[in-house]
Amino acid sequence: MKYIETENPADAPGRLLAPGETFSFACHPEVSCFNRCCRNLNLFLYPYDIIRLKKRLNIGTAEIIDRHTDLVLRDNMHFPSVLLRMADNAERTCPFLDPGGCTVYPDRPQTCRAFPVEQGLFFKDEYTPPQMLSYFRPPDFCMGRHESAEWTVKSWEADQNAVFYNQMTLEWADILRLFYADPFGGAGPYCEKGKMAFMAAYNMDAFRDFVLKSSFLKRYAIKPRVRLKIKTDDTALLRLGFSWIRLFVFGIKTGDIGIKK
Ligand code: SF4
Ligand code: SF4
Repeated sequence: MKYIETENPADAPGRLLAPGETFSFACHPEVSCFNRCCRNLNLFLYPYDIIRLKKRLNIGTAEIIDRHTDLVLRDNMHFPSVLLRMADNAERTCPFLDPGGCTVYPDRPQTCRAFPVEQGLFFKDEYTPPQMLSYFRPPDFCMGRHESAEWTVKSWEADQNAVFYNQMTLEWADILRLFYADPFGGAGPYCEKGKMAFMAAYNMDAFRDFVLKSSFLKRYAIKPRVRLKIKTDDTALLRLGFSWIRLFVFGIKTGDIGIKK
């Protein structure tokens, strides 16, 4: 997923796919390039990716962030982007790659599901929700584009079990765009408030402790249904995190959470 900062999305690299437009592609172990695409990547991870990797790797969210990611700041964005850290070897392979293929395949990140389609978020202006755009953009070495299977963005998304991933990423992107305007008054995204916002998006284990073990529930009103779910459901907790970031960082109230009188 990339952020498209242009007045004309057709200017971005790759073939912009219109709804219903088809592309040819198939990937299987017999292609000569098998696994070549899983190395030397700038692979951005989104909050829902971390939840799914946590489940697959059976380790905590803090450990995933420490062990498998690097945080980078992109131009004009006052929130760190999270990059999957490649292995420290000559080919910079993905840490989840082994000779048989992807070891986290059922819970692979959204970007891997979308491949060879690259998705972009087009921010028309700061008030309009982002629009997801899709570009067919396999690298030159990818032989999969010469296969005969035909897909639309929709059928590919369904085939790759990416529908819910995309939904969660859109929900996150709708918050992320708010960080184009510096909400930290020059203190930087690693100030205390910035760290709290990062926790609520990327570190569900710490956020759960914060919600359940601090005075959070005394200060904030949360719907009973949500309150019950967040004890065990990371996705429900992440959505609460999204609502809380809106309120805590930007003062925007949603139906899920309010400040107690
Ligand atoms: S480069 Fe393309 S065809 Fe080759 S393994 Fe990767 S996705 Fe499949
Ligand atoms: S997570 Fe899996 S599919 Fe994605 S780059 Fe790594 S090995 Fe490849």
